Amino acid sequence: MTPIKIAVASGKGGTGKTMVATSLASVLVSEHRVQLIDCDVEAPNAHLFLKPSINWSSPAVIMIPEINEERCTACGKCVEVCEFHALAQIGTRILVFPQLCHGCGTCSLYCPEDAISEIPHQIGEMSRGLTTNGVDFLMGELTISEPMATPIIRQLKGLVNEKGEIIIFDSPPGASCAVVATVHDADYVLLVTEPTPFGLHDLKQMIGVLKATGTPGGVIINRDGIGNQQLESFLEGTPYPILMKIPYDSEIALGLASGNVLTDFIPQYQSEFQSLHRRILEHYAKVSA
Ligand code: SF4
Ligand code: SF4
Repeated sequence: MTPIKIAVASGKGGTGKTMVATSLASVLVSEHRVQLIDCDVEAPNAHLFLKPSINWSSPAVIMIPEINEERCTACGKCVEVCEFHALAQIGTRILVFPQLCHGCGTCSLYCPEDAISEIPHQIGEMSRGLTTNGVDFLMGELTISEPMATPIIRQLKGLVNEKGEIIIFDSPPGASCAVVATVHDADYVLLVTEPTPFGLHDLKQMIGVLKATGTPGGVIINRDGIGNQQLESFLEGTPYPILMKIPYDSEIALGLASGNVLTDFIPQYQSEFQSLHRRILEHYAKVSA
């Protein structure tokens, strides 16, 4: 089968995004080679449900400048060209602020004295493992105090297994740069939301991201029954169909709180997620034609 990359996203945290990503992976792995990448690097939690055996880990780094003070003539060119204000000049000294540096390398390119070299700066860690049912699992974890999630997400995506048939990205919540970095090269985005005014507000933001990236998508309404029809009425006029509804159910809340995958503790959801996969492929084929 042609590989498909599916990102699971939501406008805010706690809508059931990881529940959907882990259930989809767990169901589809019985027939496909599935990879799940937890891109929510500020608060990864898919591993708590899938419980993979981690067999590889590696630091996630960006390259930041190091100033050779013997060569530096304090011309200030590097400070001038750094768009991210990661460099400052105090007298004849150039100071580097690693937390602001995006590792773009521009300062070293512009230094007329060849006084800037690049050194690795660790911003987090990446891990890989296998679940008992065979999902190839990857996650990244941003170090506390490090502000930039996107370099880890890009590095994680560099580890995507080209032999994978279904690649699932569990996106960070919201509509930030980290979300754009997760969804921009996905083939299809599943938007998980709730039928409430807050859910609708956040869904509209995510639809804005999809429009900007040109990525097709569909919607999953979680905790169906707790709100009103406003969200469904809104979606009627959009190219984002409702692909699945998951009712509000205390049994689901309890099972998830115990760290279980939905399709394991309520097996009838296995066929629901198989159907979801079929609907994704049908809609994707339609919009890509
Ligand atoms: S690598 Fe880029 S972001 Fe970092 S200090 Fe140099 S110019 Fe600024
Ligand atoms: S551009 Fe090079 S020489 Fe000029 S201040 Fe920066 S490090 Fe020093």
